Amino acid sequence: MLIAEVFHSIQGEGRYVGVPSVFVRTSGCNLRCWFCDTPYTSWDPEGEQRTVESLIDEVTAFECEHIVITGGEPMLVKELVSLTQQLAAAGHHLTVETAGTVDLDVEADLMSISPKLANSTPQGSEWAARHDERRHQPVVIHRLIADYDYQLKFVIDTPNDAADVECWLDQFPQVTAERVYLMAQAINRDLLREKSVWLADIVKSHGWRLSPRLHVELWGNTRGT
Ligand code: SF4
Repeated sequence: MLIAEVFHSIQGEGRYVGVPSVFVRTSGCNLRCWFCDTPYTSWDPEGEQRTVESLIDEVTAFECEHIVITGGEPMLVKELVSLTQQLAAAGHHLTVETAGTVDLDVEADLMSISPKLANSTPQGSEWAARHDERRHQPVVIHRLIADYDYQLKFVIDTPNDAADVECWLDQFPQVTAERVYLMAQAINRDLLREKSVWLADIVKSHGWRLSPRLHVELWGNTRGT
């Protein structure tokens, strides 16, 4: 499987923010968000071919309970079934981060779904139509939220995007507000803080959660942090 990077850091977003974690980042994605903060796994995928065994050796050497499988789109990678089964059997806490458009029967203590709204489409790109066609897969979302403990993380670019989140959630009435996190589309601290101010008002009025992006706050979206 193509792996972009493995690194030890802290979880920057969502329920486990601040928790020391080892990140395994797969390379390759079926979407092309214009704001993708890991273009080296989507627009221009790079990495190294790795075996499940070599990844387990590398990950376990950190002696860290929490492991985050991220991407790219990790659910495209069939070997993750075996990788997550073996890591779970070894007692690790596993978070799988996905856009929720591809289904795969992985092991996960937390399925961290980041649905892609209309605000993610790369307008003017040859990818725009393909991206739009693929970005919302309700059957996959229904399966993931039925079978896993989960959170939903929405990337918000402008205040108008909140209406899109409401429409999205209308399709899944089983989702309760405390599972919904909004986070600002921002790759530097100043923009993150500016957007988080009006985002705070939006989450207050809906009972949702505001997610920090601690890695951006601390390191400004530097690769491998
Ligand atoms: S789904 Fe994630 S990895 Fe894929 S293009 Fe969008 S932001 Fe990037």
